[in-house]
Amino acid sequence: MIARALLRWYDRSKRDLPWRRDPSPYKTLVSEFMLQQTVVATVEPYFGRFIARFPDVASLAAANDDDVTALWSGLGYYARARNLRRAAAAVVADHGGAIPASEVALRTLPGIGPYTAAAVAAIAFDARAFALDGNTMRVLARLTGERRPIDLPAARAALHARGLVEVPRRRAGDFNQAVMELGALVCTPRNPDCAACPLARDCRARAEGRAASLPRKRPRAARPVVRVVCACITDGARVLVMKRRRGLLAGTWALPEAIDRGARLRPKVARGLAEAAGVGVAGVAYRGSVRHVFTHRDVTAELFRVDVDARQERPPPSDDRRWVSPDGLAALGVSTFARKTVRLGVGR
Ligand code: SF4
Repeated sequence: MIARALLRWYDRSKRDLPWRRDPSPYKTLVSEFMLQQTVVATVEPYFGRFIARFPDVASLAAANDDDVTALWSGLGYYARARNLRRAAAAVVADHGGAIPASEVALRTLPGIGPYTAAAVAAIAFDARAFALDGNTMRVLARLTGERRPIDLPAARAALHARGLVEVPRRRAGDFNQAVMELGALVCTPRNPDCAACPLARDCRARAEGRAASLPRKRPRAARPVVRVVCACITDGARVLVMKRRRGLLAGTWALPEAIDRGARLRPKVARGLAEAAGVGVAGVAYRGSVRHVFTHRDVTAELFRVDVDARQERPPPSDDRRWVSPDGLAALGVSTFARKTVRLGVGR
């Protein structure tokens, strides 16, 4: 049993994080959505702004996707923002505004998978659940000396079962946070600090000298490489941005883009993007390329500045088309990639 040693360590060592101050089920829900695939240091400032703007489940349920996505700008995985708003709406519509306490009920909310359901049930309601994510999996894989790659479902199931067995009757939420915290601060992916670890005595990987080589993972397929042409269509003061309708960045705003079909065609493609948006073109100039490595793909954009022909009428804004100043981008939901392309396009 590891709970006692771990909780003692947690009480001494836990970080003062904004969602741990004056905690509530709503704050736990928001923080767990934000922390999916994202490290604490990145999430902290976003969390503060988000809670200031949407202090409770009712205010978030009443918001629209654009407002929520705008506050999420730069945090990535934008489907989380839309799902979080939809989850809040479902809490209001189906649960009388109270976030459900059980893993089973939480799983019925949009965007909530096994990890988030277990984390919220345990942290907010002290339910005996165990949240298996990258950090907790690494700790358990080392503790148990798991030899199978942890991306195998059977290995994950075994680690989850072990985690569940270890959850104490009292302080289930703190226990979950303690394992997460240990993975973040001590049992780190590289150079785990076994000398400072409260679980050192029970740890199989440490005893066998395998801490640095666990957990094992199957080799990852290479990220697909995507090349696009991007058009920074501008009247000198503002740029035209379009709302993405598909993919992981759906709901965010970006410069119009099209698949890159080779250097010779690029200026034509850039001009075509402007014309397809109903804009008259006065000139097209190459500005350079922007590369951004997402977790799911490696994108390079060849960027063209397209100057608007001032004599022609410009298409009005619509649900998925806006003219914004580069500084006004902050008020929209834009990805880091989109920000980089605008910056290069307007020369800032
Ligand atoms: Fe991780 Fe080392 Fe602690 Fe084992 S003893 S859980 S490898 S930090």
